[in-house]
Amino acid sequence: MRSSPRDAPAPRVGFVSLGCPKALVDSEQILTQLRAEGYTIAPSYEGADLVVVNTCGFIDAAVAESLDAIGEALDENGKVIVTGCLGARDGGDFVRDAHPKVLAVTGPHATHEVMSAVHAHLPKPHDPFVDLVPAQGIKLTPSHYAYLKISEGCNHRCTFCIIPSMRGDLVSRPLGEVLGEAERLLRAGVRELLVVSQDTSAYGVDVRYRTGFWQGRPMKSNLRSLAGELDALAKSYGAWVRLHYVYPYPHVDEVVPLMTAGSGERGLQAYLDVPFQHASPRVLRLMKRPAAPEKVLDRVRAWRRERPDIVLRSTFIVGFPGETDAEFEELLAFLREAQLDRVGCFAYSPVDGAAANALPDPVPEEVKEARRARFMEVQAGISTARLRAKLGACFDVLVDHVEDGCAIARGPGDAPEIDGVVRIDDACVLAPGEFVTVRVIGSGEHDLVAALQK
Ligand code: SF4
Repeated sequence: MRSSPRDAPAPRVGFVSLGCPKALVDSEQILTQLRAEGYTIAPSYEGADLVVVNTCGFIDAAVAESLDAIGEALDENGKVIVTGCLGARDGGDFVRDAHPKVLAVTGPHATHEVMSAVHAHLPKPHDPFVDLVPAQGIKLTPSHYAYLKISEGCNHRCTFCIIPSMRGDLVSRPLGEVLGEAERLLRAGVRELLVVSQDTSAYGVDVRYRTGFWQGRPMKSNLRSLAGELDALAKSYGAWVRLHYVYPYPHVDEVVPLMTAGSGERGLQAYLDVPFQHASPRVLRLMKRPAAPEKVLDRVRAWRRERPDIVLRSTFIVGFPGETDAEFEELLAFLREAQLDRVGCFAYSPVDGAAANALPDPVPEEVKEARRARFMEVQAGISTARLRAKLGACFDVLVDHVEDGCAIARGPGDAPEIDGVVRIDDACVLAPGEFVTVRVIGSGEHDLVAALQK
């Protein structure tokens, strides 16, 4: 008779709960989550596969009691995860210095981080008879790529946008929760993670970049830490990561050096999606966007010095209320100077409830459309030249689908749905989700043609 996943004994977690009622509630939440995921709670150290100790750090006696409890759990069981107030002291170093063998340390109110640490050391049981959803959740994207949302809401108040009134101010997801989801997706076979939010550069601003925990290690909740850890995770699973909706704040300069330097490398790709929206300082002010196009150009040049192969994508709005011919020409001059690889352009259209609706001097529809067409014509020339420069280049692509012997794939500079593709003929041997090395043999306005590299 074949054994079923139900025959396997459920993994057992021991639990020691110390401290005040707030710590008790944290313990209850962790225990509830453990049971919900199919773990059983072991009544003794010997019967447990791993022990969680929820500590207190209020007064010296409580600190001593917590350290003793951790020591006892290590002696009796050996596999210990520490959480609670004492875990937050010195970013976890206080506990680690006293007990270097602990598997992970988190602060209080950290159910997600504790569960991530439990998953890392004692994988969650999957019972296909009981679990209604796979471990990675239900995805609407093809199985080889997935969007990873790192925050919700936005602190900006761009006058053309009503997202903040619908979704509120920025709320960053805990670092451990984001990385835990990334790992689950990668473990399930995702080959490309697309980091999204309303404002990716602002990650952690709302929580003052507080210390989060990932696999027991403390780290700042900011874009640099997140990008670095996603890079390491993606490399270990042989996958790509790319960042979307990145505002050109100065600290993005620290993220660019983390990007892969080689065309065959996995991890964080040399790609940034940066919504500039306009380049005229007056129009940007009307939009309530940071208004320093020269600084933005300096930043673009600096990124290209750091990573000459970086692919930059952006979106713009033309025909914003009050935009003059001269200001539109300023935008075109910016476009020619910036030489962006991928660009989307929208003719301004009023959204119910947006502050920009009250601005004077609306641009007539036919002028908006004419400007959009001219903008796209200029960008088509830039895009064609930049793609032509890739002729003969070799790099890895990720196959999206194969039809009638022709594969449609994407290179490191192509995000799904919004950028171009790489077409590979005579490719019936390929399958979606596969990485292959190709050589570019043809180029157009947006797409490339390539041959499989033997
Ligand atoms: S356009 Fe983007 S940055 Fe501006 S308010 Fe809307 S969501 Fe925020």
